[in-house]
Amino acid sequence: MNLILFGPPGAGKGTQTDNIAKTFNLYKVSTGDLLRNEINNKTDLGIKIESIIKKGSFVSDNIINNLIIKILSQKKIHNRLIFDGYPRNLDQAKNLDLLLKKYNEKLSCALYLNVNKDVIIKRILGRQTCTKCGLIFNEYFNPSSKTNHSCGSKFLVKRLDDNEETITGRFETYLDKTKPILHYYKKLNLLHEIDGEAKIDQIFKEISEIIRSLEA
Ligand SMILES: [Zn+2]
Repeated sequence: MNLILFGPPGAGKGTQTDNIAKTFNLYKVSTGDLLRNEINNKTDLGIKIESIIKKGSFVSDNIINNLIIKILSQKKIHNRLIFDGYPRNLDQAKNLDLLLKKYNEKLSCALYLNVNKDVIIKRILGRQTCTKCGLIFNEYFNPSSKTNHSCGSKFLVKRLDDNEETITGRFETYLDKTKPILHYYKKLNLLHEIDGEAKIDQIFKEISEIIRSLEA
């Protein structure tokens, strides 16, 4: 079984991917991790990647394909992959199909965590950390109060590196790139949309049911 999880930045994709990988004994494939591994291990490809990134350019689809081939050719993780942050465009998606076929595998389903932009903005901008005890709150969804937090509100701080504009920009860029991919998987009858605004546990339960139905 091979899965892909899609979701805009701030949708909680990372948490869900980790939970799914652990519960269903899948191997998480994140192209970001793969690129970092190559760089850290100073492989020929890693040296090339590092110079591309240093120049501020994007790593080509061709390099990404080579990294994916490295994964697909490992027998011990054969047919139990969950892709995170990949494919990033339609070409990569089509290429993934070809590569999977070559290694006698296929995609079982593509999951999309659907979250409204306004919810993502509130999740990110509402986030508060207590500098005294380290607890994390959200002023919209999980505010600090007398019952859940004894330090009071005076130690709460926000990260200021995001604002509504940058979050909206990231969200829209993601959707522009991802919509064609989702459409592609929908036509192949592989797409499952999930309400990403539900509670983390509820989302995980829904995803688990879909995966179990694939196994059955
Ligand atoms: Zn505190």
